[in-house]
Amino acid sequence: MKPAPFEYVAARTEDDVVAALTDGHTEVLAGGQSLVLEMNYRSRRPARLVDINRVPGFDRLATGGDVLRVGPLVRHRAFEGDAVPGPLGVLLRRVVRHIAHPPIRARGTMLGSLAYAHPAAEWPAVLTALGADLELAGRDGRRTISAGDFFLGPHTTARRPGELLAEARLTLLPAGTRVGFAEHRRTHASFAQLAVLAAVTLTGGHVSAVRVGLVNAADRPVRAHHAEAALLGRPLDDAAITAAGQAAGAQDADPRDQPYAGLDYQRHAVAVLTRRALAQARDEG
Ligand SMILES: Cc1cc2nc3c(=O)[nH]c(=O)nc-3n(C[C@H](O)[C@H](O)[C@H](O)COP(=O)(O)OP(=O)(O)OC[C@H]3O[C@@H](n4cnc5c(N)ncnc54)[C@H](O)[C@@H]3O)c2cc1C
Repeated sequence: MKPAPFEYVAARTEDDVVAALTDGHTEVLAGGQSLVLEMNYRSRRPARLVDINRVPGFDRLATGGDVLRVGPLVRHRAFEGDAVPGPLGVLLRRVVRHIAHPPIRARGTMLGSLAYAHPAAEWPAVLTALGADLELAGRDGRRTISAGDFFLGPHTTARRPGELLAEARLTLLPAGTRVGFAEHRRTHASFAQLAVLAAVTLTGGHVSAVRVGLVNAADRPVRAHHAEAALLGRPLDDAAITAAGQAAGAQDADPRDQPYAGLDYQRHAVAVLTRRALAQARDEG
């Protein structure tokens, strides 16, 4: 199928984008990897697209102090190399390999993925677990919201009509933080059935800081607080990893019935993937 007719606006500045969005019938065109697909199926029929691909500076990926700033046109592929320093860079590199396949990673954007809020997308869970801040630009100026408050359900976010997701800010992980990621998916390029990420800091052989995030284990990304509590203050040994896996599956996950998996299976799989992500953090750093 081809899309229904639509108007096209090529923005040159952020003000152009925000001005175009004020009519309530205009959608942002970033990488187009989800939007154009839906338009071709005619499940979405925006009257107008505002293309942000030619806005100078929107592809900014920069580190200042201990903060990584990601602009609206930073493609998934940007996280495959060594642009992001330290353990955060290692984590993002491990995660990005699981997003679709190379042509989609070359066009699709991190912020587009956040705005689209697919329940099985990896970036929303990474940014939620790591406590990232998201900046939204609208007619009345800018506001900041934490990723944990942004995702409200499948394809539903706290972004208001007329707002551009203008920047994501992640705090770099301290040197020595160990990271892991484990995912289960049916085919190489399909979305995750479930996935888990972990970032663990050890002080004197004991866990002093930890973040665990779950992908597709609820109707929105999950920061796995119970799994984190099972690890804090303990050595990162098999007993602690098993306890964290149990907590993630039994308490943090809130699975929805899926055609391919019942609720018990999903809770079990979350426990297994949590153990794998933590074991990778311990053994491979
Ligand atoms: C075959 C296939 C497999 C895929 N597999 C995965 C996968 O495994 N994991 C995964 O995470 N994703 C996957 N994706 C989705 C892919 O990551 C998309 O790139 C992503 O969901 C959307 O990014 P985009 O830049 O292409 O956004 P677009 O398609 O351009 O836009 C998506 C939506 O977000 C809005 N939007 C985009 N940017 C902004 C912004 N800055 N501010 C406000 N609104 C904005 C658009 O208006 C639109 O509604 C897959 C896609 C395909 C086609």
